[in-house]
Amino acid sequence: MPIQRSEAIVLRRQDLRETSLILTFYTKDFGKVKGILRGVRGQRGQYGGGSFEILSHDEIIFYDRKKSDIFTTSQCDLIDFFGPIRESLEKLAYAAYMAELLDSVTTLGDKNEQVFDLLLNSLKLLSGEASSRRVARIFEIKLLSFLGIMPALESCANCAKTVDSSAKFSVAQGGLICKDCFKSDENAHSIMQGTVKFIEHIRALPFEKVARVKVANAVGRELESTLRKFLDYHIERRLKSLKFIKEIEKS
Ligand SMILES: [Zn+2]
Repeated sequence: MPIQRSEAIVLRRQDLRETSLILTFYTKDFGKVKGILRGVRGQRGQYGGGSFEILSHDEIIFYDRKKSDIFTTSQCDLIDFFGPIRESLEKLAYAAYMAELLDSVTTLGDKNEQVFDLLLNSLKLLSGEASSRRVARIFEIKLLSFLGIMPALESCANCAKTVDSSAKFSVAQGGLICKDCFKSDENAHSIMQGTVKFIEHIRALPFEKVARVKVANAVGRELESTLRKFLDYHIERRLKSLKFIKEIEKS
């Protein structure tokens, strides 16, 4: 790959030896990319303050290194730092969760511009007045949809028959299952129609409109626990940021 340029958002930051960094970016044009930045720690001014921080929106220039899937990043210029997110521990915790979730469900080089725009728009929404919980739920639903791992909600995930309001949600089967198929997953749980409708509504709406959708408290709670179980089943790894969110909400 010759020298490339792309908009990117920092998902992860790891120190490398004394002065270098490895950043994991989600880029607009190349999907997830890892890049080494040499000799940058302790002299940030050189690249513009804050551009190496997790969640920064940057423009980066990078190129191949021989025999490695980690690129050399020669330039990393800050576009947006999302200041309001960094001033609130709660917003920061939720933003870190979105970054960690995205990192855990994507592989290097998997380009998906919709996913890049989703993360960027979600960070912008989180910077404003929207509740952190709401932004996280919107992010989860849209992410599942854009990655093609959305739970089946219109027909039974086991036998493909149309489902009615008696359907249960099965994490293992990947969505709603009909009465005839309850025995295929004993852990399936009942789910409110409102929760199913909300998920479908958010999936179908363009991002500019999702922030205004109202949700009842009971639906909000069921939505959170259902999506959590579904995502945990798919990612097979505990997200550190979830522990951080729990600690903040306790205090
Ligand atoms: Zn069925």
